[in-house]
Amino acid sequence: MFDWTRPHRRFNPLLDEWILVSPQRTARPWQGQTEKIESEVQPPYDPQCYLCPGNERAGGTGNPQYQNTFVFDNDFPALLPDTPPEKIEDRGLIVAQGEPGVCRVVCYSPRHDLTLSQMSIGEIRLVIDAFVDQFIELGSPSHINSVQIFENRGAMMGASNPHPHSQVWATASVPNETARETASQSDYLKRVGRCLLCDYLELEARTNDRLVCSNDGFIALVPFWAIWPFEVMILSKRHCSALDELSSDERTQLADLLKQITTRYDALFQAPFPYSMGFHLRPTDQFAHPEWHLHVHFYPPLLRSATVRKFMVGFELLGGPQRDLQPEEAAGRLRAALT
Ligand SMILES: [Zn+2]
Ligand SMILES: [Zn+2]
Ligand SMILES: [Zn+2]
Repeated sequence: MFDWTRPHRRFNPLLDEWILVSPQRTARPWQGQTEKIESEVQPPYDPQCYLCPGNERAGGTGNPQYQNTFVFDNDFPALLPDTPPEKIEDRGLIVAQGEPGVCRVVCYSPRHDLTLSQMSIGEIRLVIDAFVDQFIELGSPSHINSVQIFENRGAMMGASNPHPHSQVWATASVPNETARETASQSDYLKRVGRCLLCDYLELEARTNDRLVCSNDGFIALVPFWAIWPFEVMILSKRHCSALDELSSDERTQLADLLKQITTRYDALFQAPFPYSMGFHLRPTDQFAHPEWHLHVHFYPPLLRSATVRKFMVGFELLGGPQRDLQPEEAAGRLRAALT
């Protein structure tokens, strides 16, 4: 019998790396840094907010009186569309390449004070529709090979504005994480003849040990190889590679699961739960990518309460990721958070 209560390594087949699990360490006392609970109640409209309807943004552009979602080009973009993709290389050691791209902002709602957990499924469905449109539009040009949609929620995750919004970065190159997941899924398809994440879902369904919640179209679980204490992955039950392949029903089901997960997160420590969340979708290069399986990652930093966070330092920076809380225990606590 494998002793899961002793330190062990778990393999992450998506990123082709190992993580160290040390279950016995959850008992250690905490005398380190504690965070402030974000208890400040936001107003429905903030005249100082550059995302609220009717307000002026940096550079003097005015936001329209939008009614549901609102998409605009980031005023301080990390990427510029007209950057030439020139490359320099010296013995493979000093290598650089120009990176053309586009950065946009997707406001979820005209309401400054809402979060995904407080929005209705119908309202979140409109956000999903906006994500689908952005994926198709930004991914279409031949020189754009990846579209990354992500949300930072909470000051702990570096969110600069509490107004509910996501960012979309479209890049000429495929970013590191997506490239690694592409390689792993492609390799698995070649070796086994099946989709890596379809097979993984089949294994997870045998025990449901790591299941958090599900509906007809999607399943949310704490991955066997999770790094963050309450990390969650949402996967489509049907094999599809990106948002543009979702049916109308599936878009609504995805909205439902985003609401369920964020509601459970907020309930877990009875406080607004910070996270980085993002969609992993097939690259938008010229290839079909039958290996790619659409999924969403939630990476929340909180460990044992609303005020104690996990730090990725020491062994994790120099060796590899490590966690104390077992993924199965995290899943159980998220399942129980709403009961
Ligand atoms: Zn606002
Ligand atoms: Zn699949
Ligand atoms: Zn992924």
